[in-house]
Amino acid sequence: MTILVTGGAGYIGSHTVDCLIRRGFDVVVVDNLVTGHRQAVNPKARFYKGDVRDANFLSHVFDREHIDGVIHFASVSIVPESMRDPLHYFDDNVEGTITLLEAMRDHNVKRIVFSSSASVYGDPKRMPIKESDPKVPTNPYGETKLMMERMMNWADVAYGIHFIALRYFNVGGAKLDGSIGEDHNPETHLIPIILQVALGQRNQLQIFGDDYPTKDGTNVRDYVHVLDLANAHILAMKWLLRGGHSDIFNLGSSTGFSNLQMLQAARDVTGQPISASMAPRRPGDPSTLIADSSKARKILGWKPKYDDIHKIISSAWKWTRKHPNGYEK
Ligand code: UDP
Repeated sequence: MTILVTGGAGYIGSHTVDCLIRRGFDVVVVDNLVTGHRQAVNPKARFYKGDVRDANFLSHVFDREHIDGVIHFASVSIVPESMRDPLHYFDDNVEGTITLLEAMRDHNVKRIVFSSSASVYGDPKRMPIKESDPKVPTNPYGETKLMMERMMNWADVAYGIHFIALRYFNVGGAKLDGSIGEDHNPETHLIPIILQVALGQRNQLQIFGDDYPTKDGTNVRDYVHVLDLANAHILAMKWLLRGGHSDIFNLGSSTGFSNLQMLQAARDVTGQPISASMAPRRPGDPSTLIADSSKARKILGWKPKYDDIHKIISSAWKWTRKHPNGYEK
């Protein structure tokens, strides 16, 4: 079975490519390398540098390779950036998905698993969040993911392209040997920023907001290990390859950690003091996001293995210490 992974040089994509190859899949990677890293891609994958919005490029890849299914990661994914430049997000995420679905339709490829996000729910009041709960995004990033889901739905109705949308909550961690991990420039995510402070590369963590209606006033998030997430994509692809119907699943641990609890957990794991100060709220941030992932467990048989925040942080810490400058070193 040959799987095309778009965005396969990115953080979650590269871990999924690695897992697919270890499970015996033949893997083709497409990535424009704007945020991805060529070194993150398992050398057994066939790599094509290009953009999913480029129809000629995609057509060339689909003509050369016999693709059985697509896992679609390629997108821009930073909430605050999407607040500053929403049109960039609609162009990259929505336009990219239209072009990809057109190429799949034209080359008779009928299965796609893709990255959606908890941000489709906006700022929900009821926790944990179920897939059927209201979807009212509070930022353009979440809006693009919701539009992508709706497009997939109609592409299924019209062209018979079956899809699984995976709504990730917060992702952390790295491959356990520390050989691949999270490397964004600029870095905006909580765990890598905390670890950069632990390593002495930053002076301080700024905690965005301490006046939310949560137990300690800071945002609460639900963290999943990147390897568990990678495994969920493989389970979802296997579901489609077995003839399963289109569906949507939350992927989270069903446990919430506040930003202050994350800071404490990182202090425990690293043994470093990790200086922090309070800062104003970050625009677009919902107060609390905790998943109900029982549907993925029941239907896909997904069972997270690394469902402990210390395991997530310690694998990220191993990657950070081995690669203090990310893939540049
Ligand atoms: N956060 C923070 N300081 C930082 C980066 C993030 O306080 O330097 C907070 C952010 O406001 C949110 C949580 O950490 O409450 C997780 O943010 P991240 O950007 O990692 O993921 P998101 O929830 O936006 O997908």
